[in-house]
Amino acid sequence: MESLFAQARAVRAKHYGKEVFFRGLIEFTNFCKNDCFYCGIRAGNRQVKRYRLSFEQILLACKMGDVLGYKTFVLQGGEDPFFTDDRIVEIVSGIRKAYPSHAITLSIGEKPRKSYERFFAAGANRYLLRHETANEEHYAKMHPASMSLANRKQCLFILKEIGFQAGAGFMVGTPFQTSQTLLEDLRFLEELQPAMVGIGPFIPAANTPFADKPSGSLEQTLRMAALTRILLPRVLMPATTALGTIAPEGRERGLMAGANVVMPNLSPKSVRKLYSLYDNKICTGDEAAECRLCMEGRIRKFGFAPSMVRGDAVGFFAEKAAL
Ligand code: SAH
Repeated sequence: MESLFAQARAVRAKHYGKEVFFRGLIEFTNFCKNDCFYCGIRAGNRQVKRYRLSFEQILLACKMGDVLGYKTFVLQGGEDPFFTDDRIVEIVSGIRKAYPSHAITLSIGEKPRKSYERFFAAGANRYLLRHETANEEHYAKMHPASMSLANRKQCLFILKEIGFQAGAGFMVGTPFQTSQTLLEDLRFLEELQPAMVGIGPFIPAANTPFADKPSGSLEQTLRMAALTRILLPRVLMPATTALGTIAPEGRERGLMAGANVVMPNLSPKSVRKLYSLYDNKICTGDEAAECRLCMEGRIRKFGFAPSMVRGDAVGFFAEKAAL
């Protein structure tokens, strides 16, 4: 495994040196109409206290992020019908107006092409939509019948076509996952060629169908991250919060296995604990400034260089222009 990680680090160093890009994460709603079996904020979980940030609260979080030096804002949430396309367009336009050169990333699930086009036109640049598993049967064991892998994959291709830097990804150690399904995940990434890939361990969430299932392992998650780096040399890959949750230096070990992005939290402290996709999530008690400093220290300790530049995928725009 160490030689695999060393190889992944070498590939990553070739394209990104020692830089680790920071993204400010704003978890703006934990309402969700979907019922994914693994997710703590699934519609069926009646124990969750639901919240939504207002337009003003979202802009304030961006302001805080900008003061702290962030050049990317990631807006993530459940699939919340309150946030209609008009409302998302209003939010994206508001951020775009206030921060003309920052990157705006959305992570709000599956939408029709028309909606994605409107978000892009309003100024969003990137979109995170993990495919979760690339195997049909496995997907069906993790989601209600109303959801389909075909649609999720289709969304990813559409996002790319529109011009988004698209992010796919999957959890490691989900119930019913096998080495075969993991292989299919890697093959799907090869086919899609996303600009970003998010990989983190599955962690059980209370009051969900998978509450009693074991977490994914650190080793297996790192191995998948390293393989992804080697397969997609220029990919932007976060050392995820979930990785930091299952092991004390999990995120740092993610960086050592080829990750090159961190996503500290910019959400108001009052709502942090409520965005519980899984149990025991770390960093829910910290202020945004503390998160930034803490991550910076961790990154330096492992010999990497924290970077507050916008950090687009290397060559992404050039390639787009050449098409
Ligand atoms: N609604 C958005 C955002 C989902 S939350 C969307 O549909 O894309 C972001 C990611 O958290 C999910 O894609 C999933 O991979 C991850 N996640 C959800 N529940 C989890 C759990 N129990 N353990 C680890 N990761 C989880």
